[in-house]
Amino acid sequence: MNAERPWGQEDLLQRLASAVAGRRLPQSLLVHGPEGVGKRSLALWIARALQCEPAEAGDVPCEACRPCGMAARLEHPDIHLHFPMPRPKRAASRAKLREAIEAQRHERLARLREDLHARLDPDAVTGLYVAAVENIRDQASRRPSMARRSVFVIEDAERMVPQSASPEAANAFLKLLEEPPPFAYIVLTSGRPDALLPTIRSRTVPLRIAPLPTERVAAYVAEHLGVRDDDRARAVARRAGGAVYRARTLVDSEAGESEAAADGLLAAALDGSPQARYRAASRYSARGARGELEPALEALRIRLRDMLCIAAGAPDAALDPAGGRGAGGAGGGPAEGAVLEALGAIDAAMEGVGRNLNPQATTALLLEEMSAAFAGRPTGRTAGTPQFAGVLRSL
Ligand SMILES: [Zn+2]
Repeated sequence: MNAERPWGQEDLLQRLASAVAGRRLPQSLLVHGPEGVGKRSLALWIARALQCEPAEAGDVPCEACRPCGMAARLEHPDIHLHFPMPRPKRAASRAKLREAIEAQRHERLARLREDLHARLDPDAVTGLYVAAVENIRDQASRRPSMARRSVFVIEDAERMVPQSASPEAANAFLKLLEEPPPFAYIVLTSGRPDALLPTIRSRTVPLRIAPLPTERVAAYVAEHLGVRDDDRARAVARRAGGAVYRARTLVDSEAGESEAAADGLLAAALDGSPQARYRAASRYSARGARGELEPALEALRIRLRDMLCIAAGAPDAALDPAGGRGAGGAGGGPAEGAVLEALGAIDAAMEGVGRNLNPQATTALLLEEMSAAFAGRPTGRTAGTPQFAGVLRSL
């Protein structure tokens, strides 16, 4: 499947296209925004705009020239797409390790050429490891092979493993961001820019993709996902929270697995008993399984957000009013302060997921904190995230 034009972001695309035409586009960018909002699509669109050679003057990318075509098929030799991957097996030497990582990357690129929205390694512990960063650094120092520029898209940059084992690699990468060769552009993406290494954040120009209004996403759901029923399209759009690719995932998984998982977690936290919490947490594996817990936490966040809306007397602002009410949000539910505190616990759990903490332990700790918040007991979450910080240190 070919890369497509990011949907519903015309103003942003216009500004970027004119920056490319005027040679004003910063060479180190950080594309950020919520899950499913289209960060990969936008980063690849920027790459096409930079490589486009239009037959006549006009907006880039023209989507008609040879470089645009190659780029859309992920076959342009001077567009390098990198993403977190599982740590390869031990190798005899650093050079072998780097080769193994590059081979892994090419396997995954072949899958993305078939389905650009494929979730790579959903259940594995992944990162951008030192050897991958060394590969990026070397590729970026080489002159482009076909075009005048080379473009590096590095996804989920917050998952770059701190390069303490190799300070040279870390410094070389920071230098690359700070002062790329005149022909190289680096586009990082992140769903959690707050989790980025500050040294990386400070060297990139942020570019936020804003979630779209519900009506716009509903239009996308109707036009592009073939949902003809208006009410249903609108319901999906509300649950997607303004992110078109999340809407696509929701339509694809009609069963709403992550919503069901979120309801299970919420019920356990509201129940509060250690047995209920244990049962809910033990559904998650003690290893990996990031792919399962992450969407459940996203859905849980929406449930709590809706509980807040309903508790605050603004049910119309809820994304999925039925879900929020089902959770006891309408009268008799936890107080607003408790819900806010529980939302803080979800943020901390997301952070844990991003750092590949044991999903079962992460869930157990989350439910303990949420049930404490709902029961009005102190959670110790007033200053930062002391409990998770402790867990992180102990790993
Ligand atoms: Zn073109």
